[in-house]
Amino acid sequence: MLGWGTDIGIDLGTASVLVYVKGKGIVLNEPSVVAIERDTGQIFAVGEEARRMLGRTPGNIIAIRPLREGVIADYDTTEKMLRYFINKACGRRFFFKPRVMVCIPSGVTGVEERAVRQAALQAGARQAYLIEEPLAAALGAGLDISEASGSMVIDIGGGTADIAVLSLGGIVCSKSLRVGGDKFDEAIVRYIRREYNLMIGERSAEELKIKIGTAYPLAKRENTSLEIRGRDLVSGLPKTVTVTSVECYEALAEPVEAVVGAVKEVLEKTPPELAADIINKGIVMTGGGSLLHGLDILLREETGLPVHVAEDAISCVALGTGKALSMLNVLQSSGIISKKVI
Ligand code: ADP
Ligand code: MG
Repeated sequence: MLGWGTDIGIDLGTASVLVYVKGKGIVLNEPSVVAIERDTGQIFAVGEEARRMLGRTPGNIIAIRPLREGVIADYDTTEKMLRYFINKACGRRFFFKPRVMVCIPSGVTGVEERAVRQAALQAGARQAYLIEEPLAAALGAGLDISEASGSMVIDIGGGTADIAVLSLGGIVCSKSLRVGGDKFDEAIVRYIRREYNLMIGERSAEELKIKIGTAYPLAKRENTSLEIRGRDLVSGLPKTVTVTSVECYEALAEPVEAVVGAVKEVLEKTPPELAADIINKGIVMTGGGSLLHGLDILLREETGLPVHVAEDAISCVALGTGKALSMLNVLQSSGIISKKVI
């Protein structure tokens, strides 16, 4: 049971949802997956349990990722999922209602923002606020976003890569790219199909990416390999092949190149004074996708700037939402977070 003044921060990501509770830290981290009964539309399972069903459901149940492309593709389901996670993290009944700060993917529209706020209020929030992803990521990575000095944050999630230059608490220039961990996985699926005539699932592709994938071939992974199972497209039978790290590098080259190109584009748009600050402070990377092996090295080489992966990169946004609540007055008086409450 939560007491008066409790603050909850939620990272509503396309791949996973994290819930931060003031005084407790991150209490929940589950995939953004919902399993639904096809006929009735009833929710069958949410989170980890639903994820295990992805690609394995019987006819009557479908497992979906409602935020997949970095936008709320299905906001009814998103709302239900959000409510489920808030209840799970906090218990079904609040003694006093908490304040909730939700970080939403950058592609979310005004209508969807309203739906997210509404869902938080219906789940028991006293007040619900929204924060933009780059700001939450920067706060969580420990950057001082209110100072008059530029910083660059790259957040790579499941659906999108968001690149932003921040100064005085605002976003000076940014780009959101529909390339993230999912596109990395899809690129591996395509490569294996082309090279081996083998169809593998997205979860197998993700495993390859995390265990042996790399964005930079000379970064100590060149001799690793992994056995992977799939279905042979010629015989139709299950088959195992051994995939090497260098092959994963080739498979990943195209989406990785898109991220590098977008980072350069934002740097080109950055005003000179702020660019000078970024040269000193470097670029900070957050989000699960930024953990792709060698991506930091590649970006360092391509931009000539210092690049750091934030400590606890996967939790940065959730931690940032918590931090935003603890400094809400400052953020509201400087207009960074809207005072409008519905
Ligand atoms: P979102 O904010 O969209 O929910 P996350 O920040 O949780 O996304 O990142 C999820 C993505 O990060 C997934 O595509 C996942 O495969 C990828 N990921 C997680 N760990 C690693 C790793 N060690 N190497 C490469 N990719 C990773
Ligand atoms: Mg995220």
